[in-house]
Order: sequence, then structure tokens, then C-alpha cells
Amino acid sequence: MQKQHELHRGKSKTVYATDHPDHVIMQFRDDATAFNGVKHALLDKKGETNNKINAFIMQKLAEAGVKTHFVERISETESLVKSLSMLPIECIVRNVAAGSLSKRLGIEEGTALKRPIFEFCYKSDALNDPLINDDHIVALGWASEEDVSALRELTFKVNEVLKPLFAKGNMTLVDYKLEFGRFQGELLLGDEFSPDGCRLWDTETGEKMDKDRFRRDQGNVIEHYIEVGKRIGVTF
Ligand code: 5GP
Repeated sequence: MQKQHELHRGKSKTVYATDHPDHVIMQFRDDATAFNGVKHALLDKKGETNNKINAFIMQKLAEAGVKTHFVERISETESLVKSLSMLPIECIVRNVAAGSLSKRLGIEEGTALKRPIFEFCYKSDALNDPLINDDHIVALGWASEEDVSALRELTFKVNEVLKPLFAKGNMTLVDYKLEFGRFQGELLLGDEFSPDGCRLWDTETGEKMDKDRFRRDQGNVIEHYIEVGKRIGVTF
């Protein structure tokens, strides 16, 4: 497999073409961004850390029957993935109130929820990823009604796999964001799963172990990411 030209440079990952038409290389960079790109820093070892955590989690999800774009990790900072046509949609599940839900509804962070909350957002930095519902997605032609049901189902299935995985490492999966895309007509989980796109709190102390440390200037960001990985069995 040959690495070819750059296809897309995102905020923290770069995608490269390969000599295989169905496969692309996802390179995890050390860039950390927050507030849809407004805050930026380079964090040493972030690319490598997230690449390894993502590879581990994508494999766990695949073993549990969640179809993903992940093929294999090919270097410290790169993974080979299937080339998806991404939906412009973020799928979020919340197990505990935090972040934008707490802000929007005035609910204290850490408040227990009677059941998990599912949300869709439209992926647009310029618009700050606004909250949308099923009707927006179907009416604007981003996906069908069946796709919308599948996205919800798949995102909840990920919760059933990852909540216990993190719980074993004494962490609470507070919330997370997933992105999906199409490959040969089928919806697959794409993008990444890492502490950049989820909230993880130490179950005993409540300490934040995710990107909120960067967003809120709490320091030792990558040290905590590595600790997350070690607790679930990632080898660095
Ligand atoms: P919130 O809506 O509270 O800001 O985010 C909910 C969850 O989804 C958090 O775990 C957050 O990290 C993740 N999330 C939502 N939007 C984004 C995004 O644009 N980028 C990343 N990396 N994570 C996001």
C-alpha cells in the first residue's frame, strides 16, 4: 500500500489517498482545537496517543458488531481506513448532563439523566454545529428516514459497548460524538473515537480526563489521555 497525495486537512487529522481506491490514510496530528477551531495549540504526542486509543476502540466496536471504517493502524500516527462519503451530521449521546446541554438548559454539570439523550448536530464550524432534528436531516436531503433510525441505533449500540469498557477502567462515559459515512451504500462509523470527542470522568474523583482539560485550561491534557488509554488496555 502506497501513501499518495493529501486529500483533506481537518483540524486535527489529515487524510491521504492510497494506491487502493477504497482505502485512505488518516494521520492524527498534534493539533488540539476547541470552540470550532477558535482555540488552537500543539500538544506533544497527541497524534500518536489518539491514533492508538482510536485503533483500540474501533477494534472493540468491530468485535461487538459495529461496522466501522477502520482497517488497521499502520504507524505511530497513522491508520488505514475505508474511504467514506461522510454525512454532514454529528451524532451525540449523553449519559450525564454536561457541556452544551448544561449551558443550553441551565442544568448543572454532573446531573444524572433518567435515560441517555440522543442529539443530532449539523457539522458546520461557521454555524457552531447547531442542534438539528430528524426532520432537518430528511428535509435537507442529508440522509433518509431509515438512515436516521440506523444512526440513532448505531450510536446507542456504541454506548452499550463503551460504557462498560470505560467503567472497568473506573471512568464514566459522560457523552460522546460520532460521525458516520457511506461506503458502497452502507453506513459505517467513521472519523475517530478518542478523548477529543467524548467526556470521561474518573468515577471516584470526578476528575476530567478528556478534551475539556484543554478547553478549560486544566493542563496535563495528554497525560490524562494516556491514562485513559492505559486504563482500558491500550499499549503505548
Ligand atoms: P457538547 O455538545 O456538550 O459541546 O459536546 C458533547 C460531546 O460531543 C462532547 O463529548 C464533545 O467532546 C463532543 N463533541 C461535540 N461536538 C464536537 C466537535 O465538533 N468536535 C469534537 N472533537 N467533539 C465534539
